[in-house]
Amino acid sequence: MRIVLFGPPGVGKGSQARLLQDRLGLRHISTGIILRQAIRAGTEVGLAAQRYVASGKLVPGSIVRALAEDAVAEVGFDDFVLDGYPRTIEQADWLGEFLDRHDAPLHGVISLQVPDAIIVDRLSKRRVDVLTGENYHLDFKPPPADLPADRIVQREDDRAEAILKRLKVYRDQTAPVEGYYRTRGDLREIDGVGSFEEVQGRIDAVLRAFQSAV
Ligand code: AMP
Repeated sequence: MRIVLFGPPGVGKGSQARLLQDRLGLRHISTGIILRQAIRAGTEVGLAAQRYVASGKLVPGSIVRALAEDAVAEVGFDDFVLDGYPRTIEQADWLGEFLDRHDAPLHGVISLQVPDAIIVDRLSKRRVDVLTGENYHLDFKPPPADLPADRIVQREDDRAEAILKRLKVYRDQTAPVEGYYRTRGDLREIDGVGSFEEVQGRIDAVLRAFQSAV
């Protein structure tokens, strides 16, 4: 299956995409994770993206487009879940054209809905394993005690000012992408509030619907 998990930062896209990867073998493609790895490695892409990511702004489209397309090509155009791409209408157009060119259209887009107050709590208490990209939450999913402390960090863009900036960027630039897919009949909205298992159950129901529509 080829799907996009959509929604504002902190809505649980990354956690659910990882669960889909572990349970169903869909490859998790996160432009955010790819960018953070490039920044840590000090590559040319990382250097170009660093100031945008740190301040919560969108990285220039041409950079993420190449990263996303390379990642989709690398997994063979099938069985992937995109997380964090597309984030603008322009990116949604690029993705559609790219997948059409490879005869691999999306099965659908799942939009996770979570109120802003819960998002801010999730992001401010989020911690990340810098090695694996795995996300933790200080209350609901604390980092394992045996992980070395220097592997668990708070993302620079999960600090208060950057969170507000990212929510504004989402509203201004990314939210319109939801309407773009809704108009095409590709969008399914689900409630993203609840335990990981509850949300996973809702996603599974949508995936079954996508599959039976093929
Ligand atoms: P994420 O891990 O998805 O929250 O992404 C972290 C940051 O990476 C974002 O705040 C942006 O700075 C950058 N980023 C990730 N994906 C994209 C994208 N599709 N377009 C532009 N910037 C992106």
